[in-house]
Formats: sequence, structure tokens, C-alpha cells
Amino acid sequence: VASGKGGVGKSTLSANLAVAFAQLGQRTGILDADVYGHSIPHLLGIRQKPVAVDRMIVPPVRGELKLMSIGFFLDDNQPVMWRGPMLHRALEQFLTDVHWGELDVLVVDMPPGTGDVAISLGQLLPRAETLVVTTPQPAAQEVASRAGAMAQKTGMRLIGVVENMTGDVFGSGGGERLAEELGVPLIGSVPLDPLLRECGDAGEPLMVAAPESSSAQALR
Ligand code: ADP
Repeated sequence: VASGKGGVGKSTLSANLAVAFAQLGQRTGILDADVYGHSIPHLLGIRQKPVAVDRMIVPPVRGELKLMSIGFFLDDNQPVMWRGPMLHRALEQFLTDVHWGELDVLVVDMPPGTGDVAISLGQLLPRAETLVVTTPQPAAQEVASRAGAMAQKTGMRLIGVVENMTGDVFGSGGGERLAEELGVPLIGSVPLDPLLRECGDAGEPLMVAAPESSSAQALR
């Protein structure tokens, strides 16, 4: 799950998407690779840390959902100044040394933009599919288009666009335009919904707290 810039709801969507997959009975993991945001543990209300067993890292879980976050290995709220090779090694470890078990789906929350993580994931997960998140605003749509183009260049398959925060504040149409520009479908639109924000802050994903709300249905 990629975006052009931060703050468009990429992490919120990633977390809820992973919960939705798990609720549908898919064996699901979520990898929080957003070095600048790493908010997935908080969004899922997971407070345990990973533990090392026999040279493998056992990921913390929420129900059946397994989580690994780059945030577990960073000091609290310290700014991140990792460079490409370090990031690449960390990602490689997350994919090879973490005891994910058999998974049907691994949701990866990518950092915003078109940087090193996208390039590494393109190499490490050559069959990965990319979903680009944007808000309806033209400004967000333009930067998202670069992230989408980047995913295509690194060999990941771009499967579509999700417009988030659709509604009066940010207007509409950005998702549709981006999808058209990238030549992929607009997979869905998630409304601007204060409940989604409240659930994230409380560490109780919307998919669990209000699975029948219209936003949860849009996410599913
Ligand atoms: P990103 O990962 O793109 O930086 P976040 O997932 O952290 O974005 O979301 C940014 C902020 O917007 C958070 O406070 C989140 O709760 C809120 N948010 C995300 N999606 C929605 C939505 N559809 N409606 C209302 N608030 C949202």
C-alpha cells in the first residue's frame, strides 16, 4: 500500500485492510515498513514486542493477524535517518527471519513517496501488487501518480487506486483521475469519517469496532 505523500490515510487503510482480510479467514500478516510513520502497532492496539526464538523473530499478533513493524527496532520517536542499504537489509530480515508461517496475504504499509523502500520491495517481493492511496485533492493525486509510476518501474503490479477521505472537505474526483492516468481501476472510495480517526487513535480498528458502518463496508 503506497501513497505519494503522508497524511492521506495509507496506514489507516493498511491496518483496516489487514484486519478485513483476517476476518475473511485469510492467513494475514502486516508489515509496517513506513520508516517515517510506523503507526501500525498503535492503530492495531498491539503493545507486545516481537520475541526472538531460535534465530527467528516471532511477530506479535492481534487475534490471527501477525504484525511486524520497523518501529519495534527504533528508539521511541527518534527521527529516522536510515539510508538505502540499511533499509534494504531491515526489509530483507523482516521477510526472511520473521516467523510469518504460511500466509495468504501480507499487507505492506510503505513509506510515502518514491524512495528506497519501494525499490527494495520491488526486488524482494517481485510478485507484489501495489495499491495507491490518494485523497480526492488534485495536489495529492499528482504526487500519488509518481508513486504509482515508481511501483510500475520496480516491477510490482499496480492493481488500482483507492481514494480516501472522500467528501466535502477534500472534494472528489482525484481517485478517478489518478486511476485513469495510471491506467488501472479505482478500486474503492472510503469516506472522510471521524469514526475512522477515533478508532485509529484508540487502537481499535474500525473493522472491529464498527464492522457494519458504511466506511467499514467500503474498506471491505
Ligand atoms: P498516512 O499513513 O498516509 O500518513 P494516516 O493513516 O496516518 O495517514 O492518517 C492520517 C490521519 O488521518 C490520521 O489521524 C487518521 O486517523 C486520519 N484518517 C485517515 N483516513 C481517514 C478517513 N477516511 N476519515 C477520517 N480520518 C481519516
